[in-house]
Amino acid sequence: RRPARPHRDLVYPSGTEPSRHKHNPSIRVMQWNILAQALGEGKDGFIRCPLDALNWHERKYLILEEILTYRPDIVCLQEVDHYYDTFLPIMTSLGYHGSFLAKPWSPCLDVEQNNGPDGCALFYHRSRFSLQDTVHLRLSAMMLPTNQVAIVQTLNCQVTGRWLCVAVTHLKARSGWERLRSAQGADLLQSLRSITSRGSGQSEAASGAVPLVVCGDFNAEPSEDVYRRFSSSPLGLSSAYKLLSSDGQTEPAYTTWKIRPSGESCSTLDYIWYTQEALSVESLLDIPTEEQIGPDRLPSYHYPSDHLSLICDVSFREEPHRLI
Ligand code: NDP
Ligand code: CA
Repeated sequence: RRPARPHRDLVYPSGTEPSRHKHNPSIRVMQWNILAQALGEGKDGFIRCPLDALNWHERKYLILEEILTYRPDIVCLQEVDHYYDTFLPIMTSLGYHGSFLAKPWSPCLDVEQNNGPDGCALFYHRSRFSLQDTVHLRLSAMMLPTNQVAIVQTLNCQVTGRWLCVAVTHLKARSGWERLRSAQGADLLQSLRSITSRGSGQSEAASGAVPLVVCGDFNAEPSEDVYRRFSSSPLGLSSAYKLLSSDGQTEPAYTTWKIRPSGESCSTLDYIWYTQEALSVESLLDIPTEEQIGPDRLPSYHYPSDHLSLICDVSFREEPHRLI
């Protein structure tokens, strides 16, 4: 009954060769707003999505199938409202370590028969990384606490011995909140700066800050101030998915596409940022075409969220020469 998921190719941005080095295998990172179950059924108003496509007992397998198809080393999720009963036990059995941080006032709690608050979740595969440190952040804006959160983990790569700092966040949604998003981004950048410069290993501290990957639903188009903040911060971050474009400078046309009573909304809101100096992007999972997404857009029987998953493979660049 259920049609097949759209096939998505792994694309190698021009000029990069897939690394087949045994001593420096790439790290696969997934960014995905999976659509909170309570919001999808209760608040979002996806009028072109059949209700039974939103049934949790079917939809959860599509979400897990998407994760299992690509088997990322790092999985960053937003709108997780089935962490303790679904993702933590299943991902643990698949070899992942998980961390979850709920939004302080999750809108899921307003939905009848909700399954608890939604929040961000960060998983890493235990065969690839060991955990040095976890920081749970409630994002501030102009010194005031907001309803948005981030998880930041400092990991040690078991293969290369290198350090990697990974962050997941979900910024405030909706138009009219651009300044709040920008302030939340500034707060997150400041925390990231202090976490990565604090370092984790003596060796990395000697050669500079810990390389960083920041995954998020920023709820902001590339034209927004928060995007500009991230691309021009002293952390030297670049957005991985720009590399899918022919000029290497343009974000995809959309990472979410849905139809609500208010109309159709097709926009680029999700990003994977990485430290350009320390990491290189080897491949990216292609964005499905309009035809693959279909006339009713997302979510659908084919695809369980209104946001597309983003996946990229990154690898550590050669360490710069260090003073002894
Ligand atoms: P956001 O505005 O950030 O959005 C919350 C969710 O709504 C997001 O997951 C977002 O999805 C989704 N969303 C975005 N646009 C729409 C839309 N047009 N229609 C339906 N859903 C949409 O929420 P906040 O974190 O600021 O929380 C707001 C809610 O939280 C309030 O409505 C209230 O219910 C509750 N709250 C309660 C408080 C209390 O004191 N009890 C205090 C503060 C908040 P996406 O990111 O995919 O766009
Ligand atoms: Ca949403």
